[in-house]
Amino acid sequence: MVEDLQKKLKEIKKEALEDKVPIMNDETLSFITNLIARKNIRNILEIGTAVGYSSIVMALTNPNIKIVTIEKDNARYMKALKNIKEMNLEDQITLIFNDALEVSFKEKFDLIIIDAAKSKNLEFFENFERNLDEGGTIITDNLSFHGYVEKDLKEIESRNVRSLVKKIREYRDFLENHPKYKTVIHEIGDTISVTERRNIDEDNI
Ligand code: SAM
Repeated sequence: MVEDLQKKLKEIKKEALEDKVPIMNDETLSFITNLIARKNIRNILEIGTAVGYSSIVMALTNPNIKIVTIEKDNARYMKALKNIKEMNLEDQITLIFNDALEVSFKEKFDLIIIDAAKSKNLEFFENFERNLDEGGTIITDNLSFHGYVEKDLKEIESRNVRSLVKKIREYRDFLENHPKYKTVIHEIGDTISVTERRNIDEDNI
């Protein structure tokens, strides 16, 4: 049974890569699953499901974990539904088909993962920070954007990529200078940020 699930998970990953669906890389997922275990995380919100790969990997780490994940592309959402059903994870993973900026919740999450349109990180952050539990963590992926963020803008030919790079730099500045949060940038995978609320004692130092 476990072997069947592992085999199915490998197939989901292989198919996603063949179809050029951008999924989190192994190093990033391994960092996240370690954090989930270390911080005893139980409730996760993910912005950007794609075909459900990262949600499935996180759900498999512990049967008590619940994940809500949002995807706005219909074909990917349908594929994610199918993958999650085949992995028997419907009780753990709730899929929402919508633009994440149109979604609002009352519930709190102890981990929020931002992995959707890279130009909208700031909007996603501002839309969902109210849902971050006390002591919770927000992780944002692809803050290097395949190395472009570290390049001189003059070296980037595409105007769209230049504009995206500017947005990602603005988001990194926003995180690193935020009075309410502390952020550590990790050069893992395509670079991630790990953001937590500052505690009151730190504010008074
Ligand atoms: N987390 C997934 C994984 O590792 O398996 C990969 C997510 S992929 C990098 C980003 C996804 O976010 C795409 O499938 C895209 O359609 C979706 N997306 C982009 N903007 C979105 C939005 N505003 N609301 C919901 N989903 C969005």
